[in-house]
Amino acid sequence: MRVLITGAAGFLGSHLCDRLLREGHQVVGMDNFITGNSENLAHLAGNQNFLFIRHDVSNFIFVPGSVDAVLHFASPASPNESSPLGYINLPIQTMKAGALGTHNTLGIARANDARFLLASTSEIYGDPLEHPQTESYWGHVDPIGKRSVYDEAKRFAEALTMAYHRFHGLDTRIARIFNTYGPRMHIDDGRVVPNFIQQALRLEPLTVYGDGVQTRSFCYVDDMVDGIYRLLISEEHEPINIGNPIETSIHDLALIINSLTNNSAGIVSFERKRGPSDPQRRRPDISRARNNLNWEPHISLEEGIQRTTPYFQGKLGLA
Ligand code: NAD
Ligand code: UDP
Repeated sequence: MRVLITGAAGFLGSHLCDRLLREGHQVVGMDNFITGNSENLAHLAGNQNFLFIRHDVSNFIFVPGSVDAVLHFASPASPNESSPLGYINLPIQTMKAGALGTHNTLGIARANDARFLLASTSEIYGDPLEHPQTESYWGHVDPIGKRSVYDEAKRFAEALTMAYHRFHGLDTRIARIFNTYGPRMHIDDGRVVPNFIQQALRLEPLTVYGDGVQTRSFCYVDDMVDGIYRLLISEEHEPINIGNPIETSIHDLALIINSLTNNSAGIVSFERKRGPSDPQRRRPDISRARNNLNWEPHISLEEGIQRTTPYFQGKLGLA
């Protein structure tokens, strides 16, 4: 296949480029670098099967030649208010990437009769009242809260994707991605894993927002990319949760990272840094992915953190 990947210079997008190239496909990567980094693609310079186009997906997209698949991953993805890369500080760009960017990428898929895969998110469930979250849960979302620029854009993106599927018969897929971490996350995007690992490597206390009893379920990037690839080559048109079903409190995550990095500086709590829309619990029910994609994650949190730490050591000049 010749595959267009938007958000290619980001964390997930760049790993997807690598996986698709390894599988023998040709890849066209597209990005405007708003939260991504050209270093994530530097190793692909000179690769005959890779073409990069610098472009904002909110504007009309032109790709020379035909494409067989479109993976729409372009969007700011961090909720952290303290980071300039957080979507709360890029509200219009985030809504445009989710709305106009999805429209443009669906359009290019339709023009090429290509399959389409949307990077959706567990955030479409909001601060969920059902636990764990199954795909049939409609969510508990504040339409005007600070996170709404991301949550509602992704909900619109899902609706538009299903409209193209139902009305135009487009061959679409929707991945509801839960918290994923690994090398190439932006060190300054403020998400919890890069924050904690860099604090631990600097021998500083880890900044736990709120009381730390809020939970997430962390998936290592290689497992996530494998789930997305399986979805791409499947015939699964309904949304599908992809994530690790093992739930961890943020407090326990801090203890694990301090222990694995031998950081004795402990934890510091910031009660006010935890916003009201910060979900209390998040864990995917992955029965659909298990049954329909024959997929489940294999990499434990401890192993994933150990695989991720050297990347941040390099970024901090500590390698
Ligand atoms: P990221 O910030 O590392 O990557 C996003 C990439 O999209 C960046 O390279 C950025 O420059 C690019 N981009 C943003 N707006 C663009 C635009 N208008 N035009 C072109 N490029 C644009 O984030 P990520 O974690 O790799 O997330 C990738 C996708 O996966 C996002 O759509 C996000 O919503 C989704 N997702 C990620 C997670 C996660 O835990 N990492 C969880 C749920 C969903
Ligand atoms: N968090 C934290 N300290 C940090 C960064 C994040 O305690 O330095 C918390 C945050 O409040 C949230 C959880 O960690 O409850 C996960 O945050 P992240 O930004 O990674 O993404 P989210 O899952 O909220 O989209």
